[in-house]
Amino acid sequence: MRLNSYQTNSFNSVVINIHGISVATYPNLPQVINKPLGSVGALQARKHKKPIISMPYMSAAGNLIVFISHPLFSNNGDYLGYLGGSLYLNERSILNNLLEQDYFKGGTHIYVVDKNKQILYHPQAARIGSKIAHNKVINKVIEGQSGSANIVNSLNESMLAGYAPVKLANWGVVVQRSVKSTLSPLDGLIAQVIKRTLPTVVITLILIGLFAHFISKPLKRLADIANRTDELNHESELKKVKSWYFESQQLKTAMLKGESVLQLQIGQLRHDAQTDPLTGIHNRRSLKVWLDKLIHEQTLFTILEIDIDFFKRVNDTYGHDKGDEALKALTKLIQSVARKDDIVARIGGEEFVLVIPNQNSEGAFKIAERLRLAVESSYIDTIGYITISIGIASYPEHGTNIDQVFKKADNALYYAKEHGRNRSVIAN
Ligand code: GH3
Ligand code: MG
Ligand code: MG
Repeated sequence: MRLNSYQTNSFNSVVINIHGISVATYPNLPQVINKPLGSVGALQARKHKKPIISMPYMSAAGNLIVFISHPLFSNNGDYLGYLGGSLYLNERSILNNLLEQDYFKGGTHIYVVDKNKQILYHPQAARIGSKIAHNKVINKVIEGQSGSANIVNSLNESMLAGYAPVKLANWGVVVQRSVKSTLSPLDGLIAQVIKRTLPTVVITLILIGLFAHFISKPLKRLADIANRTDELNHESELKKVKSWYFESQQLKTAMLKGESVLQLQIGQLRHDAQTDPLTGIHNRRSLKVWLDKLIHEQTLFTILEIDIDFFKRVNDTYGHDKGDEALKALTKLIQSVARKDDIVARIGGEEFVLVIPNQNSEGAFKIAERLRLAVESSYIDTIGYITISIGIASYPEHGTNIDQVFKKADNALYYAKEHGRNRSVIAN
């Protein structure tokens, strides 16, 4: 009988053994034919008389071998022998051909152990035949378990391992790949993702920035205006703020409302501070402001300093309240002779001032006389008639500052009182 490579290329060698004698081999080995075969695999095959995969053992020719055999029986069931094939673990065989398929390339490697943890296949040929001592994956796979685990290999590399038993042969198959090479494609992927999403992210951030800017802009302007304490009136500034959304519009409206209330109160206080409460005309403080303004503008003016004659008597006779009524009546009379630009003020108990801008003392004298005659001839309820004396002085004719002009008017008034009262006197 002859065997040839057409019949099998799965094994490195094949033998048919009948009654302990090798009757055919491939490759053709004349030294073996018709002789008993005493190898470990052969003895096991004959002993167990069933399909068997041997433990790895060293052949007589020095090959590390796994012997796979199947028993042969006669037609009436008598055991004849076996058909056996050897896999040379350290040479090319169906085992490593199968295990070195493409899908185990690129960082992945596979190895096979038998139940004694002896390596049957390993990509590093030198390790074939050696034993793996401490490896939790190997321990599990030879116990018949399958699964996956994270392990550290002999080079201290972190590895991902998958394992499964081959129960028929009591082998274990382990596939390993380093965590680094498993994850490295992700680096590229992440770079790709970043590259693709970066423009969107940047545009989104820019849009968010712009949006935040436009949202905060009116708020910032409103806050700036609120912070500005050097100005009293913010209304026109506030109106210029473009509050383009509801909340900022509300804030702006509230600030405008607050501003107008504040302005109203300031106006009221200012008015109170400048007004004589009894007569409603300017008081001494307000008069000073006006006179300062006229002098600042270098406007010539004349003042009439008006004092009621014997007013003490009026109070004594009719009471203080009636005296007040007389003061109000006199105010009306002064206002009736005053023109639009004139200033009427009460500067003391029953002393009044009429300021006539752009009028010299002579022109003012005529007005003073008109007033004096009007007072003299006006009947005041209950009290009857009162008279007034008037001192007249002009700026810059009688003085270059307010005090000088008033001093001259005082003197003229004193002169009028001294010379019979109910008269108008120009200074000097
Ligand atoms: P004359 O000026 O002519 O010399 O006499 P007079 O009596 O007016 O004298 P004087 O100017 O000294 O008196 C001012 C008086 O004016 C004293 C006070 O009773 C009165 N008086 C001052 N302030 C007020 C006021 O607010 N209301 C009233 N009713 N009387 C006042
Ligand atoms: Mg007086
Ligand atoms: Mg008086």
